[in-house]
Amino acid sequence: MARVAVVTGGTRGIGGAISLALKQAGHNVGAIYAGNDGAAAAFTKETGIPAYRFDVSDYKACEAGLKRIASELGPIEVLVNNAGITRDAVLHRMTPEQWGAVIQTNLTSCFNMCRLVIDSMRERGFGRIVNIGSINGQAGQYGQVNYAAAKSGIHGFTKALAQEGASKGITVNAIAPGYIDTDMVRAVPPNVLEKIVARIPVGRLGLAEEIARTVLFLVCDEGAFITGSTISVNGGQHMY
Ligand code: NDP
Repeated sequence: MARVAVVTGGTRGIGGAISLALKQAGHNVGAIYAGNDGAAAAFTKETGIPAYRFDVSDYKACEAGLKRIASELGPIEVLVNNAGITRDAVLHRMTPEQWGAVIQTNLTSCFNMCRLVIDSMRERGFGRIVNIGSINGQAGQYGQVNYAAAKSGIHGFTKALAQEGASKGITVNAIAPGYIDTDMVRAVPPNVLEKIVARIPVGRLGLAEEIARTVLFLVCDEGAFITGSTISVNGGQHMY
């Protein structure tokens, strides 16, 4: 069945692939982005998916933005919390700003967005929430205590909210991607990236489309019995 779906960070990278896959599956999609107007305009032109600019780390901005999306597209039934940033530094050099920005953007955004759609999902007796975590939230990563804490937090958030939503037809799952070929990973120095790829048993970076396929699997109407799960999509780099 066609649903109204919202994807944060949905105009490029992994989120862009998710938005497009949802649209191709017949859903009515809105993509949220932070400030890269050029990428968002190009994405909308190419795909026909409307883009909405607001900061998902800001509750009030989410409230206004989601109100607008719901008035234009309809009540939100599928939410993909994908927006994320990195501000890497070893802890002994990490600033409170680096810590705060990553926690707010990656983790608090999940609270903001879920809090603002949950009442409508509960009333309708249907909802699909997918949170994008990370292999580095599962395994930790040197230089990323902020990011690993935020992503690890997402995995706990997912399991708790899944318990609350279960009796109301709302499933809540997470995906933990390994290293995926996007701008975020292209920012890693080539010599470091080479070492990372050498540790991936499949022998390559993942594709954004491979994460999008997993989202489709989780959000379909037939996915009602899968909730509270984290699906790792990482080329075999981390298994547990
Ligand atoms: P990108 O950096 O390519 O894209 C990030 C997207 O998030 C952009 O659309 C950006 O908007 C948006 N965004 C960032 N901050 C905010 C904000 N405050 N409010 C609204 N939107 C925001 O990221 P990726 O596609 O690589 O990653 C997507 C997700 O997957 C992230 O959560 C990341 O942590 C996770 N992940 C990525 C991995 C990888 O290897 N790439 C591995 C594991 C997890 P704008 O375009 O305006 O800047």
